[in-house]
Amino acid sequence: MAAPDFARLAEQLIDWHAHQQRLLPWRAAPAGQRPPYSVWISEVMLQQTRAETAAGYFERWMERFPTVQALAAADLQDVLKLWEGLGYYARARNLHRAARQIVENHGGEVPAERAALRALPGVGAYTAGAILSIAFNQPEPILDGNVQRVLARLCDLEQPIDEPAVQQHLWQLARMLVEAAPPAAAGDCNEGLMELGATVCTPQKPRCLLCPLADSCAAALAGRQTERPLRSPRKSSPHYDVAAGVIWAGAPFQSQLLLAQRPAEGLLGGLWEFPGGKLEKDDADLAACLRREIDEELGIAIEVLGWLTTIRHAYTHFRITLHTFHARHVSGQPQAIGCQRWLWLGIEEVARYPLPVTDQKILAALHAQKNG
Ligand code: SF4
Repeated sequence: MAAPDFARLAEQLIDWHAHQQRLLPWRAAPAGQRPPYSVWISEVMLQQTRAETAAGYFERWMERFPTVQALAAADLQDVLKLWEGLGYYARARNLHRAARQIVENHGGEVPAERAALRALPGVGAYTAGAILSIAFNQPEPILDGNVQRVLARLCDLEQPIDEPAVQQHLWQLARMLVEAAPPAAAGDCNEGLMELGATVCTPQKPRCLLCPLADSCAAALAGRQTERPLRSPRKSSPHYDVAAGVIWAGAPFQSQLLLAQRPAEGLLGGLWEFPGGKLEKDDADLAACLRREIDEELGIAIEVLGWLTTIRHAYTHFRITLHTFHARHVSGQPQAIGCQRWLWLGIEEVARYPLPVTDQKILAALHAQKNG
């Protein structure tokens, strides 16, 4: 297959993007003229989140933390609370940490060099490329899920795109494309490529009739667009049963309840939760699992009362069924053994703390039971 005419593709993309792009709050100014801070925040939010969902979060974020300095000075708990519901909380922790480094080492200005950007927590090849091209108009490539799909279809790639060699090839293609864009249009070219993937070259039903690149697209010309990109077969993700407790100091709904803060690092790091843990094969049942977990995590004895709710949730690499029970504190002073901190709180105070989505659902079930 002949190599695509990248200069022509870049031009078509830029022209299409100028007329068809969605109005989104981070696009208040054209690419190349946006504050690097807002490009950085929007690109991190967009990594695992649809633009429509990210828009509201972005506006609230910029209102609350309008500058790098404001973010650096913020309390991590406030940052996590604002991020609540977006998932992948390491992104929020890394933004906060990186803001502090930018203030300390770069005078509060988001750096315009790849090496300095990549040295910041949470800034990978994609984020660095997005900031350099969209904020600073440098001809640096980007490769997210949307871009991979568009490029794999344009070139009708026959190998699974998750293979490392194919990933490298895709990065090269993305680089050739952005380098072929007219000077000072690198940001528009990259943003156009992502926008095309998000709105026209979609995973299930690409709308090739509306696509500005259709006459150069090898997969579409061969009628194979829905067969691309290929991926390696997936292993099914493991499933765990987990027990969690709403542990009351006394009678349910008439006393305070116990909330624990997860360790700073790792899955859902720094968020608050109704404590509990995974069912092990030696646990006689879920109640025994909950008593053991609470003893290990907080060093207290509890009595398990009635069932409250069951929640199913899928994380990236595993799925859980979360069985939640009311419980009553029996003895022992809580200690932060398997958690960072713990607090006795009134039920109305819980929502002030950043909670994972599963614990927000537990809280909703609690309120429903209280009011029902
Ligand atoms: S022609 Fe179709 S498959 Fe090819 S890039 Fe455009 S939308 Fe995607």
